[in-house]
Amino acid sequence: MTQQFRIALLSGDGIGPEIMAVAVDVLKRIGQKFDLQFDFEDAMIGGAAIDQAGTPLPEETLETCRQSDAVLLAAIGGYKWDTQPRHLRPETGLLGLRAGLGLFANLRPAIILPQLIDASSLKREVVEGVDIMVVRELTGGVYFGEPKGIFATESGEKRGVNTMAYSVSEIDRIGRVAFEAAQKRSGKLCSVDKANVLEVSQLWRDRITALAADYPTVELSHLYVDNAAMQLLRWPKQFDTIVTGNLFGDILSDAAAMLTGSIGMLPSASLGEGGPGVFEPVHGSAPDIAGQDKANPLAQVLSAAMLLRYGLDQATAADQLEQSVLQVLDQGYRTPDIMSEGMLQVGCRAMGEALLKTLD
Ligand code: NAD
Repeated sequence: MTQQFRIALLSGDGIGPEIMAVAVDVLKRIGQKFDLQFDFEDAMIGGAAIDQAGTPLPEETLETCRQSDAVLLAAIGGYKWDTQPRHLRPETGLLGLRAGLGLFANLRPAIILPQLIDASSLKREVVEGVDIMVVRELTGGVYFGEPKGIFATESGEKRGVNTMAYSVSEIDRIGRVAFEAAQKRSGKLCSVDKANVLEVSQLWRDRITALAADYPTVELSHLYVDNAAMQLLRWPKQFDTIVTGNLFGDILSDAAAMLTGSIGMLPSASLGEGGPGVFEPVHGSAPDIAGQDKANPLAQVLSAAMLLRYGLDQATAADQLEQSVLQVLDQGYRTPDIMSEGMLQVGCRAMGEALLKTLD
């Protein structure tokens, strides 16, 4: 029986529309193969929305997303809007979307593809086979804790304050997302904190340890964040799934991503409680190459695969889409950002056509 899904498409700015077009084509083809019907609905966000509607996140866009089963986002931003006041900046639209959908969990895989191993700045034997998932808490911790601000002390000196705080419910809900992700992967979860110094981290560690009882097939370990940073660079293959708070996750997910060396290949997922998740590449809108058919659409396509896996629970279709990305790389197709000697350089559209051929 055909399964039906509503997908909101937020193409945004810069290379966004180009890479989105490729992702939509491959999703349609995947739909035909797996008896899935996707009803796509376009909505405005970022600079494009500022230009057309005077705000980076029009209310209709949020409503379209809320009514959907999943949201596929490309990228927002560009030089044109860089000097606008904060409420008229493309990034404000992105933050509003995350808040509006209650997206508290950010999943960022860092996978070293054998075909692109030389793009990494680390030695082949260190990175070969790396396949890590960083699960970062997205709506709590030091970025949101109160009190925060720059205050004057009694002596009149200025003092900057932020507060790192996590409640049990906040830790538990991100913990469960991470245990479930680890279950779907190889069953190893490493929780990263700073429990030797921070009370907030001690509570984090206690709760994650307590949750482990509900996930007997997952092997749990703990690391302090300074050690985790070292271990990521020393021997990344020891990690499978990592769970951590907002600040540590911000830094560690970028470090893990850069093990791969290629920003045009990295997808991400942001999930909430029950409602639709947002699936988007890690990279920005690349205004320097926009409209030139030079963009690498593979991070967008891999984001669509995450949408199938984590947003719609269609693991087999997700596997197939990820396989097709490996196949086009095996066939030697490369966009300029991942080009190397002896390979076949193609543009964004031709990469999309190559993907469709492998899906046939
Ligand atoms: P960027 O990721 O857009 O670009 C960095 C470099 O990587 C550029 O040289 C670009 O050409 C290249 N690149 C990025 N994605 C690529 C792809 N798919 N294929 C080929 N090359 C690619 O980062 P930036 O230049 O710092 O930011 C540009 C704009 O994007 C800014 O307005 C920024 O605020 C915004 N941005 C948006 C997001 C998002 O939408 N989530 C994330 C980061 C930056």
